[in-house]
Order: sequence, then C-alpha cells, then structure tokens
Amino acid sequence: MSITATDVRAWISDYAAAISEHRAELVALDTAIGDGDHGTNMDRGMKAALEKVEATEGDDVGAILKAVAMTLISKVGGAAGPLYGTLFLQMGTAAAGKQELDLAGWTAALEAGVKGVQARGKAEPEDKTMIDALLPAVDALKAAEGEGASLGDALRRSADAAEAGMKATIPLEARKGRASYLGPRSIGHQDPGATSSQLLLETAATRFG
Ligand code: ADP
Ligand code: MG
Repeated sequence: MSITATDVRAWISDYAAAISEHRAELVALDTAIGDGDHGTNMDRGMKAALEKVEATEGDDVGAILKAVAMTLISKVGGAAGPLYGTLFLQMGTAAAGKQELDLAGWTAALEAGVKGVQARGKAEPEDKTMIDALLPAVDALKAAEGEGASLGDALRRSADAAEAGMKATIPLEARKGRASYLGPRSIGHQDPGATSSQLLLETAATRFG
C-alpha cells in the first residue's frame, strides 16, 4: 500500500474536519497558556488550505503538500501558521515529483518537515511545543520501518507516539513560544500545538491504516 495524491487530498480534508471538530478544545488549551487563538487560527488556515488543495490538479504529492504550506504561511498568523507552513513545505519538497509515498517516502517526508519546524522554531524535546508530538511520531515511523512493519501499522504506531508525546507536555514548563512567558504557571496544561499535531498524525493513521 502507498499514499497517492488522491489520498493526500483526503487526508488534508480529514485534518481540516478534525481541526474544526476540535476547534473549541484547541481554543481552551491556548486560553490556559497562550492567547486563545490556536483553534481559530488553525481552523481558518485548514479551511483555506483545503480549498487550495481541491483547486490543485495533478498527481504530484509534493505539489499538494506545498499548496497547503503556502496557504498556511499566507493565511495564518501567530507561531503556528509559519511552523505548520514549514512542516508542509518541507514535506512537499521531500515528496516533490512523486506520485505516491510508501512507508520510506512518508517517513522521509515527515522527518524533513519536522526538521524544518525545528530549524525555524528552535524548539527541543520537552520545550512543551508541537515538537513533543511530532518528533516521537517520526521516531516511531523509523523504528517501524526498521522492523519491516506495514504502512498501516507504522502510521498507527506514529499516531500513538504522538498522543503519548502530547499528553507528556502536561507536566512540562514551556520554554518556547507564548506559553514560556508564564514560566512555571504553564505546568499542568496540555500544549495546544502538540494537540493539533497529534490530530495530524491520528488522521493519517485513520485514513491510511
Ligand atoms: P501564538 O502562540 O502566536 O498565539 P498559536 O496559538 O497558533 O500561536 O500556536 C501556539 C503553539 O505553537 C504552541 O502551543 C506550540 O506548540 C507552538 N509553538 C510556539 N512556539 C514554537 C516554537 N518555537 N517551536 C515549535 N512550536 C512552537
Ligand atoms: Mg495562540
């Protein structure tokens, strides 16, 4: 099994729907340790990205991912727009010209995307950011790939790792982004960006698993 451009379009549609469904939860999480805009930012951005994707023809997986990136970069303010924009842009660059991604291709694309987020935002593990969901997901994919797992199994393991990483942000003190201004008062709250990233991996596992 592999992931085609049609599959990626469906995944983006699923992710936009998941963000819309969890919009109030993302707002509540960001209200606790930020400025409360994460759910509305992501919802607006993903609705626009989905429109762009539906208007992007062809079977190049990279082109679709880049269309998402450009929309998020141009339409979403705050920290998350440019960071998710970078994630999709680097994924799209890694997948450029490919009509389908197998497990190795998906893993390489996500790894490139997450490296891009780290290069841009300078977050390390346990800084209480989206990286805490994304990096464990990449590590799980690589481990699954090394063990010869199927694409579906590997995606499930990456979604589970992202969920564990998301939950593990609760006891952390934020060291990056707006939540870091709160210092120790950021402890005890789940990071909003890690939550939207967990949804990204969960929708991939559900769609392709
Ligand atoms: P803003 O903080 O500008 O209001 P959002 O509320 O949309 O932007 O997004 C906040 C999320 O962005 C945080 O929960 C965190 O996961 C993520 N984030 C913030 N700064 C960084 C960073 N430097 N690196 C990675 N992720 C970050
Ligand atoms: Mg915010």
